[in-house]
Order: sequence, then structure tokens, then C-alpha cells
Amino acid sequence: MKLLVVGSGGREHALAWKLAQSPRVQLVYVAPGNGGTAQDERLLNIAITDPEALADFAEKEQIALTVVGPEGPLAAGIVNLFRQRGLKIFGPSKEAAQLESSKDFAKAFMKRNGIPTAEYETFSDAAAAHAYLDKQGAPIVIKADGLAAGKGVVVAATLDEAHAAVDMMLADNKLGDAGARVVIEEFLEGEEASFIVMVDGKHVLPLASSQDHKRLQDGDAGPNTGGMGAYSPAPIVTPQLHARVMREIILPTVRGMEKEGIRYTGFLYAGLMIDTEGNPKTLEFNCRMGDPETQPIMARLKGDFSKVLEQAIAGTLDTVELTWDRRTALGVVLAAHNYPDTPRKGDRIGGIPPETDAAVTFHAGTALVDDGKLVTSGGRVLCVVGLADSVRGAQSAAYETINQISFDGMQYRRDIGYRAVNRKH
Ligand code: ATP
Repeated sequence: MKLLVVGSGGREHALAWKLAQSPRVQLVYVAPGNGGTAQDERLLNIAITDPEALADFAEKEQIALTVVGPEGPLAAGIVNLFRQRGLKIFGPSKEAAQLESSKDFAKAFMKRNGIPTAEYETFSDAAAAHAYLDKQGAPIVIKADGLAAGKGVVVAATLDEAHAAVDMMLADNKLGDAGARVVIEEFLEGEEASFIVMVDGKHVLPLASSQDHKRLQDGDAGPNTGGMGAYSPAPIVTPQLHARVMREIILPTVRGMEKEGIRYTGFLYAGLMIDTEGNPKTLEFNCRMGDPETQPIMARLKGDFSKVLEQAIAGTLDTVELTWDRRTALGVVLAAHNYPDTPRKGDRIGGIPPETDAAVTFHAGTALVDDGKLVTSGGRVLCVVGLADSVRGAQSAAYETINQISFDGMQYRRDIGYRAVNRKH
């Protein structure tokens, strides 16, 4: 069978890499893919991003199933379009994707359905938003309602920062339509974890737990990024917490959507904040897998993922049992010079070693240029995943691989997994 993965990041490389391991799969197309998917002979990049053109391609090439990585095409309705044309695709409809594409929708939905989350209010008027900030005080969190490619959340430590964020979004329209409404919410303290499940409309299949590192620098300093590294499993997600998140957050979300006439299908990602007493609250929903969480999760997943996706599309996820590599997988993102502002492109990448059982390098912002050279082409360039029986061992496997890789301006965190290491001592 031939499959199609939509997207071009590290997440999509990991999904395509996993799917290509199936003996049933002849070829995985990646649209548009990156330098890493271009180098793998089991994968083939296609330079198509328009959903209609992708549906034409899937029809012509008799693609058995399509899986979508990023939120953009999901929010634009790629799943609706494929389904209308009788093509098999795993992901949420445009309506279901509102859980991510509108923070106001997600917050109101959580409130209606009793799902634990931070207190909030939504504003489109700057004066009203400023008045609310003065009433609430800092720290406080300001979020653009729409999709803003990771730039739409300001965690303001002071009221000055909070007012500036409101002005940036509501008065100066710096984020365009995405910032035409803002959600202002209570600042939550605690430790974050990523809880990702697959949903077939009715049944929920949890994936392995993971934890992301959003800040640019060691010790969670510096600006927020798309994610600088992740590992799986996340020891903070104990079996008890897992059961609670399923009961209090995931199942009420899937049932609540169904009750409101929107069947949820696809990956569902709840970004959690866990307070010191171990109580989880939902920071956000994503209607897709996380990047970089996908890389360590796919590195640990055993078995034929194409079969799991088939069952998900057929609505029979209740019959699926996933098995996981018992080792910890830990992914470190190597980012380009000047990421996250305006990353430099075109730096020559060298030294990526071949994959082993203990380390695999997934590509994100890379491109193969005409003469076959690999160069940087985006902010997050590579994600190196190490696997070992302990978190420390997985760190060593990842960082030993990184020591062999080089490009000008390469920046990465040296402390990915530090919370898990501290927890165990
Ligand atoms: P993503 O890139 O994961 O889609 P996003 O731009 O949609 O992120 P959120 O995940 O909602 O934004 O927030 C980004 C980060 O801001 C969170 O991971 C968390 O660190 C911080 N954050 C968000 N909401 C709160 C809150 N209420 N209290 C404290 N920190 C928060």
C-alpha cells in the first residue's frame, strides 16, 4: 500500500519513518517533506500543499490512507474535503479542529463541559481588556484566539507586559485576524506534560506520555519556542494521574464534542499543567500530535502503525493494543542561528551519523540543495532522539550523536529531560 503524510516538520518525518517500517507499505509520500524525507528511499517528497491538489494526488495514486501533521490544513478543512471525495484520512474535521484553532471556542467548550482549565474571559475591545487586566493583576496570560504559529501566547510577569500584549494584539493588530479576539486567563503554576490520544469518533486510545521543553535555553529560560526537546515516558504522568486525565479531561472532551454534534476523530493533544498537589488542568488542546513529542513517541512505538491508523479510520480503535519500547526516548532539537526570531537559512549541515538502535535523527528545517548538499531551511533543523533504559542513558545517547553533527549557528539545550532526572533522585 501507498500512504501520504501531509507536512514538512520533524513530526512528519517521524510519522513517515514509522509508517515506512511496515512490510505492507511500499512507499510513503510526504507533502511537501524536508531534506531528511528526501534522503530516505522508502519515502518520496511531493511538492504539493494545496488540499484540492493533494486530494487529486491521493485519488490518482490510490493512496490507502492519509495522515495530517500540522494544524493549518486541518483548520482549513482538509479532512472534510478528503471525506467528501471518499478518500481515507485520519484527522479532525474543520469543525472539530476548532478545539485548537479558536482558544475562545476551546475555553467555552471546557467551561460548558466541566473540564478543568484556568479561569478566563474573552475580549475584542482593547479598553475592556485593559480594564480587566488592572482588575486581575499579574502574573497573567494573554492568548490570541486564532492560530498564530506559536507566537500567540504571552505569559506576562508584570502588568506592563500584559498591557503591551493586549495592545500588540487588539490595538496594533500585529497577529492579524488571529489576534482580533484575545483570551485573558489566570496564570497557572506547576509542571507541564503532554497527553496525546487517538480518537476514532467514539473510542480513545492513549499514546505514551511525554514532556516538552518550550523555552529556548537551559533551565527553562529565554523565549518560548515551538519546542526544544521532548522525552517519553514522562514520569510525572503516573498511572493514577493517567486515569484521572482520561476521566476528567479526555473522555469528557470526546463525549462533549459528540453531544454538541461534532464527532472528534484524529489525534487529540491536551497540554496539561499539573500543580504541586498533582491536580491536572488543561492549558490548551491541539488537534494534532505535538512536535517534538512525536519524535520520541514514534521512536518507542512498536508494531505496525499503518494498521493502527486503518483501525482509527474504521472506528475500531477499541480493538487495538499498542506496545511500547520500555526504554526512554529523548529528543533534542538542534535549532538554527537566531531561532526563534528570524532563523538563518542555508547553513551547510554535516556529520549526521546513520540511525542505530540507540539513536535516530529526524529532520525538520532541512533541504537538499541541487548538488546533494544538506542545508538548514527553517528554525528547528533536526531532532536527535536517543534511546536507553534510563533517562540519563537516553540523554547520553542523544548528546553523543549531537557531538558528531555540525552547522554554523547550531543552538540546542543541554538539559533536556532534567525534570525526569531530578524526579528519580
Ligand atoms: P503550541 O505551540 O503548543 O500550540 P500555543 O501557542 O497554542 O502553543 P499554549 O500551549 O496555550 O500556546 O501556551 C504556550 C505556553 O504558555 C504553554 O506551554 C505554557 O508554558 C504557557 N502557558 C499557557 N497558558 C498558561 C497559563 N494559564 N498559566 C501559565 N502558563 C501558561
